[in-house]
Amino acid sequence: MAAGLEGKDLQIDTSTGILSGAEFTPSSNCDARPSGIEADLMVIHGISLPPGEFGGPWIDQLFTNTLAVDAHPHFKEIATLRVSSHLLLRRNGRITQFVKFHERAWHAGRSSYKGRVDCNDFSIGIELEGTDTQPYESAQYLALAVVINALCKAYPRLSVERLVGHSDVAPGRKTDPGPAFDWPKARLSIAKLRAKSR
Ligand SMILES: [Zn+2]
Repeated sequence: MAAGLEGKDLQIDTSTGILSGAEFTPSSNCDARPSGIEADLMVIHGISLPPGEFGGPWIDQLFTNTLAVDAHPHFKEIATLRVSSHLLLRRNGRITQFVKFHERAWHAGRSSYKGRVDCNDFSIGIELEGTDTQPYESAQYLALAVVINALCKAYPRLSVERLVGHSDVAPGRKTDPGPAFDWPKARLSIAKLRAKSR
C-alpha cells in the first residue's frame, strides 16, 4: 500500500501549518495571505516533468527554484517560473509539503472562484503527479483522501464541498487535473475515510 497510508490519520499542527508524517521541503515561492484571510478552498492540480514522465526530481526542483535547466529542453521554458503548491502527491502516494498551510502558495495564477479573484489568496494547492489523460493512481486517491481529511479537521473553513480543479478556477487557461481525474472516485474515497475517522 502506498507509502503506508492505509488507515493512517495524518495530523496537521495548526501552530506550524505542517502535516506530520509527510516530507516537508520548504519552497520560497510563497508569501503571506492577505490580512484576515484563511483558506476556504482546495484546488486540485496535475503536473508532470518533463510532461508525461513520472518519478523524477524535477517537480521538487521547480518548486524550490533549483531546476536543472539542461536536463530537458522543456525546462528552459519553465526554469524562471516562480511557482509552488502546498502539497504534491506522487504516483505512489508519497506526500511532500512545500508551503505551510497558513501561507500563500503560488499555484493557481490568474483565477477566480464564484466571483472572487486570485484563488491563491484563499486556497490550498494540491498537485497530483500526472497528466490530463492518464488515469491517476489509486494510491493518489487514497493520499488525497488522507490529506483532505486532515485539512478539513484542522481548518474548519475547508470542506469537501469546497474542492475544485485548477481548470474550474482558470477555465480556458488551464486544463488540469484533466478528464483523467476521476471526481466520483475522489469524492468516494474522501467520504469513506472521513466516515472511518469520525
Ligand atoms: Zn494547475
